[in-house]
Amino acid sequence: MKTAEIRQRFLSHFEANGHTVVQSAPLPFDDPNLLFVAAGMVQFVPYFIGQQAAPYKRATSIQKCLRTLDIDEVGKTTRHGTFFQMNGNFSFGDYFKEEAVRLAWDLSTKSIADGGFGLDGDRIWATVYLDDDEAIDIWHKQIGLPLERIVRRGMDDNFWSMGIPGPCGPCSELYYDRGPDYGTEGGPEVDEDRYMEFWNLVFMQNERGGSTGPNKSDYPILGELPAKNIDTGMGMERMAALLQGVDNLYEIDQTRPILDRAAELASKVYGVHSGHAASQSHPDDVRLRVVADHVRSALMIIGDGVTPGNEGRGYVLRRLLRRAVRSMRLLGFEEPSLPHLMPVARDCMAPSYPELASDWERISTYAYAEEDAFLATLRSGTTIFDTYAGNVRRSGGAQLSGDQAFALHDTYGFPIDLTLEMAAEQGITVDEPGFRRLMAEQRARAKADAKAKKTAHGDLSVYRSALESGSVEFTGYREVLREARITAIIGEDGLLDAAHEGDEVEVVLDTTPFYAEGGGQQPDWGRISVNAPSREAELTVLDVQTPMPGLITHRVMVLSGEVRPGDLGLAQVDIDRRASVSRSHSATHLLHASLRRNLGDTAAQAGSLNAPGRLRFDFKTPSAVPASVLGEIEDEINEVLLRDLEVRWFVTDQNEARRIGAIAMFGEKYGDKVRVVEIGDYSRELCGGTHVERSSVIGMVKLLSEASIGSGVRRVEGLVGLDAFRYLAREHVLVHQLAGEFKAQPEELPERIFGVLERLKSAERDLDKLRAAAVLSSAGSLASTAEVVGGVQLVTAEAPAGVTGNDLRSLALDVRGRLRSADPAVVLLASPAEGGGAAFVVAVNDSGQAAGLAAGELVRAFAPVIGARGGGKADLAQGAGGEAAKLADGFAAVRAQLAAR
Ligand code: ATP
Ligand code: MG
Repeated sequence: MKTAEIRQRFLSHFEANGHTVVQSAPLPFDDPNLLFVAAGMVQFVPYFIGQQAAPYKRATSIQKCLRTLDIDEVGKTTRHGTFFQMNGNFSFGDYFKEEAVRLAWDLSTKSIADGGFGLDGDRIWATVYLDDDEAIDIWHKQIGLPLERIVRRGMDDNFWSMGIPGPCGPCSELYYDRGPDYGTEGGPEVDEDRYMEFWNLVFMQNERGGSTGPNKSDYPILGELPAKNIDTGMGMERMAALLQGVDNLYEIDQTRPILDRAAELASKVYGVHSGHAASQSHPDDVRLRVVADHVRSALMIIGDGVTPGNEGRGYVLRRLLRRAVRSMRLLGFEEPSLPHLMPVARDCMAPSYPELASDWERISTYAYAEEDAFLATLRSGTTIFDTYAGNVRRSGGAQLSGDQAFALHDTYGFPIDLTLEMAAEQGITVDEPGFRRLMAEQRARAKADAKAKKTAHGDLSVYRSALESGSVEFTGYREVLREARITAIIGEDGLLDAAHEGDEVEVVLDTTPFYAEGGGQQPDWGRISVNAPSREAELTVLDVQTPMPGLITHRVMVLSGEVRPGDLGLAQVDIDRRASVSRSHSATHLLHASLRRNLGDTAAQAGSLNAPGRLRFDFKTPSAVPASVLGEIEDEINEVLLRDLEVRWFVTDQNEARRIGAIAMFGEKYGDKVRVVEIGDYSRELCGGTHVERSSVIGMVKLLSEASIGSGVRRVEGLVGLDAFRYLAREHVLVHQLAGEFKAQPEELPERIFGVLERLKSAERDLDKLRAAAVLSSAGSLASTAEVVGGVQLVTAEAPAGVTGNDLRSLALDVRGRLRSADPAVVLLASPAEGGGAAFVVAVNDSGQAAGLAAGELVRAFAPVIGARGGGKADLAQGAGGEAAKLADGFAAVRAQLAAR
């Protein structure tokens, strides 16, 4: 059974049982504490912890998941992918244990003809939490599972919580016995690879307290929850492996073609050297599985808008891509492999995720560029690594120092995990603590350098408690003035009871008209005037941020008075700034739409800035945008402004937004409800920002520049409104001045200036020729200045400034030819160069060389005196640099050397 079919059957089963089908959340979920979504329940957390009322009692989803903790398991076990799909069903205070078990059992064992998965019930095992007799009863008495296939397991395996106070509860897992080929008999306690877990049922029934010790299970289980919930997860890939009769996750229909292509590239035959069980895997086969898994995961991550980088999500992506590339190298394939593998992965996944095909240009551009860059890093870094490793071994050691690992990382871009891997391959260790210490020092330096942090608190718990009074509604789409209550004041050390004149703090309002920085739009500024019964205070708003979803904080300076939580205040947005930023934001939408019209849909947004009077827009495109096209784009935008289009916005659901073709931006939060902003019929985008009401209000847009800012990403900058006008007006004055100077009409200027430059160049060439001729003609008079030092005819002279090394050489040879050839002769000429240095030449004639003089040696006597360097042969040597002011000292040094012979 194909994976797509499993997906279909799963959703149908739960839909038929009253569940609402909910879309997968994007892998990079909108929560700063989470790198990636790692389970189906993540997007439902607000319902589980009672922060929001669930809009449905039952839900089901196929959630895209990524588990970085499982990276090292990939290929070595038969059941761990980095990316995988978790099929879940959820109950919010509705059905509980009995029905959850029943639903999972039915779908697993119902015959294929009847729409189930047709697993053999006699091979299914269940685990339950130690004292969960209720679950045992359900499994045994209602489902009919024999007691010997029901295993009690402890807190570590079968008790779930989110790691913080909140809901928790026992789990029950379903395992499938794959038979003696896969390992030892005895159930999941004995062998988790033979008995493969495919479904986990979490029964949220208790409340837990805070941590009481170092272990993950050190916490008290408090009372029962008033409303009990169900959260389950069935591994789609694991189910596919079972139903497709393959040995592991990497051989199912969604990954096997990638694996096969990799094997083909590396000229390997997959599988012939491995057994069924994980423990019987050949290293090459493990590598091929790693490649198949990581390539697919990278595809899915880039597909959700993450780009390779050095931190957080970007780094996980980079690590996966690099591990795939390196595995291919270890398999013997050293060329770029992603152009062969990524399209295969796309074809595997696009049937379930069509956006991978439509967004292919962007996805592949990033992946390929990352591989190219990494291959270059690998080539240089590997050489350095080998040198270090060689040194370590030659000196009898077995450990790479922290300094070396750090240098590899810092100077050569070699990630530490790669250094660790390569060291392990060569049988040496790495001083990892030393490395980490150096990294920490570097980070501390960087931190100290970093100016004013956006939000004062790295510690999110302060914000979490500020959120306790409920999420903050942004009302600023329709108003710029509002009476609001101050619900929290946050200082450097946490929540405050009051703030006074001169204090810089963050304040939280119950609702706010202030726009928090987001979607590229700069935050609002303004004022909050507090008017409490006995007190007054004036606050100026310097910055507005969203440190966590649902929370908006205002960084303010208290200008006068005292403010306390609970006070009422009048929040007033600086409307000039807001209007100017809104003009930039609307202009950015027009620019985006126009780019897509002119360059195609691949010109997707990669980042933007909407600031007062100016905008910046980054987008993906494989090559530069010709100036003529940019000109047309600019023209088109300004034409659209004049059409005075109406700007409308509305909130709808994601599917509808897709249907009407709204441009969706990655990194933006995809809740169920999305906000669509339309500018006439010209642009339609998902956007949470503020905008003008009609396009003509924007006034004017002037694009300034277009340039590359990295692999496949270009940046356009522009001015908006009055700033655009003023810029053009300034240019106009400039052109007017130039036209006056050149006595030309403005339109004649380019030709006139070109003509002047040409004449200037040709005059400079003539001047050079004259100067050289003059210098060369001085050979006769220079020869006549020869003195005799230590029996050697010596000419030392300073030629005019700017005589080039070439001319100096010709002159020196000419002078040498004019001196008596029967006696030794040395000619030393130098000329001051631009920037205070000098060029110099020494020539020695045949008699001189016969007498043991060498030009190269004389240059080495001369050059250090003036602080320069040079060298050459016995007959001729030259050099440059140093200080022209010391030429006389240099000449004296040579004279002294000859005199001493
Ligand atoms: P395991 O002990 O095998 O690592 P787990 O206890 O981490 O599994 P859960 O967190 O309970 O798994 O996740 C629910 C289900 O998701 C599992 O039953 C399994 O089918 C699937 N699953 C978990 N981790 C992975 C993974 N890395 N790759 C594929 N499927 C997974
Ligand atoms: Mg696990």
